Amino acid sequence: MRILHTNKSTSYIKMKILRFLLLFLIIYFVSTSCQENEKHTIHEKIKEDTNSILDSLITIRRDLHQHPELAGKEKRTSQIIANYLTDLGLEVKTGIAGYGVIGILEGNPTGKKVAWRADMDAISSDFKDPVSFKSLYEGIQHGCGHDVHVAIGLGIAKVLSMNKESVDGTVYFIFQPEEESFKGAQNMVNSDFFTLLELDEIYALHITALPVGQITTKPNEVFAYQKRIQLNFDKGITEENISELYSKIRNSISRVGEGTLPWKTELAFDPSLGITSPETIFNDYLFVEENFILDSTETEYQLKSFLYETRNSNLNKLLPQIENVIENSELSENYKEGFYIQENPTVLNDEALTTAAIKTLDSVYNTTAVAKSYGQIPYFNDDFYYFQQKIPGVYFLLGGSNESKGITAMNHAPNFQVDEESIKIGVQVFSFLLIERSKNKK
Ligand SMILES: [Zn+2]
Repeated sequence: MRILHTNKSTSYIKMKILRFLLLFLIIYFVSTSCQENEKHTIHEKIKEDTNSILDSLITIRRDLHQHPELAGKEKRTSQIIANYLTDLGLEVKTGIAGYGVIGILEGNPTGKKVAWRADMDAISSDFKDPVSFKSLYEGIQHGCGHDVHVAIGLGIAKVLSMNKESVDGTVYFIFQPEEESFKGAQNMVNSDFFTLLELDEIYALHITALPVGQITTKPNEVFAYQKRIQLNFDKGITEENISELYSKIRNSISRVGEGTLPWKTELAFDPSLGITSPETIFNDYLFVEENFILDSTETEYQLKSFLYETRNSNLNKLLPQIENVIENSELSENYKEGFYIQENPTVLNDEALTTAAIKTLDSVYNTTAVAKSYGQIPYFNDDFYYFQQKIPGVYFLLGGSNESKGITAMNHAPNFQVDEESIKIGVQVFSFLLIERSKNKK
């Protein structure tokens, strides 16, 4: 009896467990499929809302393009931004580190504090601008696409305002001045107001010469590290001697794959050699720039040049390597001293957050949202790094070129132009990302 009773009791418990498990599974699948449906519904809504405001964003972008302002002088741009964000009903802070503006969208307070950063300054340029809405200010142009960044940032703020009930956390729209001078991000991060924010995550993008709408990013370094050196020599030698020595230095310390030309940035977005190809020529290199500047004072020659390096671990070895080449040359007696005159950190994407952000986007775009990047682009950089030093952040590259329209969005290059379709893609994709990332989940 006892045994029988025990068996009976065991099977009763088993039944209970089975029922519980079944119920758990049903609840799990129903809630997961609800979450998935909800995700797709909000995604569709974002697409519609973006389409409804696209013309107005293009108007804003063209107006900014006609009124470009240099680093530190973004007065008009910041007023336009502040007015737009105020009209959306956001809390707006102005005058942060110069003309910086932050708009705060309060969603459900249970979520995270996520931020979107857009830079807003233009560059000195006399290139012929191929568009009809040309700059009205001589010698100043939006030759890096920051007018498009502002339009996308405002567009995301608008779309999120239209979908406030879906925003679980607080979203901060950071409009940063002085990117081109590499001062704005650092100044904003160090401002009293910013220090109080305690953000959980930060995101940004840059328009590039990828095909329009294509997005790419990678964990860790996005660009190469940059160092600028100065080497001083006495005047007992000729400029020709220095030029020969410089060639020797370049040949000795450079590390590039055979037959590859990582300094050719026009190849950075090439489908087979560029950063989105596993065969890219833009990984694992060190090169010394071909050109150098030679200043001559009464007592010395001062050679100045740039070094580009993909590996952080090698950075501190560069000057000793260069000095080793000089010491083994005929000019060793004429060499006085060498030092770095400029050292820029590089955009450094948080590894876990990059993976999470890509996964979020892939969940609605069927794994096609973000192309994997395998390389680091030389010459380019972004002071977004200073935000990433304080807050885990991800920096995306967004394509703005369109071969069929004759548009190449190679930043700072002559004929730099952006296909405005990129504004639509940017607003759609990153509105969705911010809504999903604001949710209080890991
Ligand atoms: Zn730029």
